[in-house]
Amino acid sequence: MSEDIISCSRCGSNRVVKNSFVHNGNQNFKCKDCNRQSVLDPKNKVIEQETKDLIDKLFLEKIPLAGIALSYWSIRTMVTNLRQ
Ligand SMILES: [Zn+2]
Repeated sequence: MSEDIISCSRCGSNRVVKNSFVHNGNQNFKCKDCNRQSVLDPKNKVIEQETKDLIDKLFLEKIPLAGIALSYWSIRTMVTNLRQ
């Protein structure tokens, strides 16, 4: 059985070591170069500031939260397209 080579998501270093477990039981890793801690497959995704700003604008247009949540993936696609 072989282990995957893990690299740091911030600096790209391969000097990553196991560092206990996070609250949901997933293995936590720590970069020995920049001290960033991360998990391989995080369940909690970070919502980018651009998406938050767009959601705020939709609230100002009086679009209900349920409607915004249903179209969340469409919003992400819109934000991605706006960047290009
Ligand atoms: Zn690093």
